[in-house]
Amino acid sequence: MKNKIFHPYTPFSAIEKGFPNMVRGEGVYLFDDAGKRYVDIVSSWWACALGHGNPKVVKAIQEQAGVLQHSITGSLTHPNVLALADRLAGLMPSPDRHTLFASDGCSAVEAALKIAVQYWYNLGRTEKTWLIGMDQGYHGDSLGALGAGFVDDFHKPFEKIVSHPAKLPFPLNGDFTASQKVIEKHKDQLAAVIVEPLCLGSAGMKIYPADYLKQLADCCATNDVLLIVDEVAMGFGRTGKRFAFNHAGIDPDMVTVGKALTAGYMPLSACIVKDSIYNTFSDSPEDHTFYHGNTYAGHPIGCAAALAALDVYEANGTVEHGVEMAEKMKQWMLPMAELDCVKELRFLGMIGVVELKPEMRSVITKIKQSLFEQGYLFRPLGTVFYLMPPLIITDDELRSSIYALQQTIEEFC
Ligand code: PLP
Repeated sequence: MKNKIFHPYTPFSAIEKGFPNMVRGEGVYLFDDAGKRYVDIVSSWWACALGHGNPKVVKAIQEQAGVLQHSITGSLTHPNVLALADRLAGLMPSPDRHTLFASDGCSAVEAALKIAVQYWYNLGRTEKTWLIGMDQGYHGDSLGALGAGFVDDFHKPFEKIVSHPAKLPFPLNGDFTASQKVIEKHKDQLAAVIVEPLCLGSAGMKIYPADYLKQLADCCATNDVLLIVDEVAMGFGRTGKRFAFNHAGIDPDMVTVGKALTAGYMPLSACIVKDSIYNTFSDSPEDHTFYHGNTYAGHPIGCAAALAALDVYEANGTVEHGVEMAEKMKQWMLPMAELDCVKELRFLGMIGVVELKPEMRSVITKIKQSLFEQGYLFRPLGTVFYLMPPLIITDDELRSSIYALQQTIEEFC
């Protein structure tokens, strides 16, 4: 059959060669239609924290599909969405929160950005409209998300149609001073700051310290600026705590989640909002309704998947297992630092990064292709190879993936 897919994030030159046709998943593995097995080393775009085919999540989806497959959340509720909103609020440091559901990560981010602007509007502070993020931050590919997160390598064609009134610099050495200046200077215009907590994923897994995030939260609070922490990529255990912001001991105004919320089993995302913000959306005496929504916001099967995934995370101690595996990953990856072509290794929970020197750029595709032929689905970002495997990965699976990466890099070094 001719491939008629407009593939996202896929160079056209790669399409000509053809792609494996994945027909089945089990644990950390995907299987193509020829029966070849691949390690899903990036957890299917960072979502599948529980790997593939988890029986409890699968069962929850199957059962829900036979009971109520859809009912909207505009002026209606259903049991799963009520339970999930309650559950998510309970995972926050201050549980007085309401959750607006969406489908993909970027639709949760869009909601958060618009809630921030309308919050200030509701309060009569209509001059506070700026939404800013960190330089090279990423919050999805919708135009609103590009306004606050813009990765030059991806988004250049859209430069002229998104505005960036200001940006926080990436905190080299963890220094907060430059960011503080930006916030203090523009506090009268700023509605919100949005950040990827501790790690700029799409920019190449650039890691910054929790103390920066703590200072950012304090500075936003002091200057009347909302802080949105975008946990779409880091949430649900990736960094060694349930949420990456937990490392900083903060209580963000809004938290966006997606991907691992359902462990990648259904498209569902959410924006978890403090009640001090939520309560300004009343429709009397003036109409401050939030006229924003997605058809699949709070989809019953999506919510069933999320509730089951949250149960499994807790029952199986998935975060704790991830912490144990993260330590092993680090120890097993450290020898790669000795390779001549390696610029740097970086680690954050179950994220292990090997950044190659810039002169290796010309062989990145070859390394990726060789690993692919060996059955490892790496997706490098520029010269950065990284492991972000399902948190359920075993010693053997992890060790063999690291070994394959090291051997292959060495071959091209
Ligand atoms: N926010 C962050 C931090 C992300 O890493 C991503 C996707 O990688 C998104 C938002 C967008 O999520 P989605 O691709 O589900 O729209």
